[in-house]
Amino acid sequence: MPDKNGILIVFSGPSGSGKDTVLKKLTEKNDDIRVSISMTTRPKRGQEVDGADYYFVTKDYFEKKIADGEMLEYAQYAGNYYGTPKAPVDEMLNAGINVVLEIEVQGAAKIRKIYPDAVSVFLMPPSLPALEERLRSRGTEDEETLSHRLFIAEQEIRRASEFSYVVVNDSIDDAVCDFETVIRAEKMRFSRNKNIISEVISNV
Ligand code: 5GP
Repeated sequence: MPDKNGILIVFSGPSGSGKDTVLKKLTEKNDDIRVSISMTTRPKRGQEVDGADYYFVTKDYFEKKIADGEMLEYAQYAGNYYGTPKAPVDEMLNAGINVVLEIEVQGAAKIRKIYPDAVSVFLMPPSLPALEERLRSRGTEDEETLSHRLFIAEQEIRRASEFSYVVVNDSIDDAVCDFETVIRAEKMRFSRNKNIISEVISNV
């Protein structure tokens, strides 16, 4: 039997690459995968719901959580704080749930250091023009924010080789399937099945 702890999965990709859409489908299809809810100081966008999409908080509140050691990781992105509250992630992993952290590349690098067993997946847009087109059609950013996000996107894409896996998002269904394949393969790593030999032998 595999070890009972869940797998921690870091999922990054530039703004507009389709991370939310991929994760929505992935979690609808797989009960054993949950997405950690991040905390942010950026204002709510579109139909976002506090406590579901993010915990929307003030800068003072966020800085208190950092000082109290309650954040697993955090980073500044486009002028706002974003971070992962630690306790719920640990609880889910201990309960055998696979947890996805949808975070940007600086946070991903921190998680890799803290959890060497974490799996990291980068969602790659098919091209920069395709990314720009998706960001524009989303219509949630003004022109200045949009060009800032595109600038960050290029920097992030250059860091994609820090990740263990790259999934190209030219079709959502294929990207979800690729993501599931990564998790299936990761479950079979020997390092996640340390007890299997003794279990099989003692069952003779
Ligand atoms: P957005 O404003 O588009 O929702 O998110 C901006 C960026 O922040 C995205 O790349 C997203 O993955 C990242 N992000 C969201 N939550 C977190 C978090 O908890 N930690 C870090 N480091 N990045 C996050």
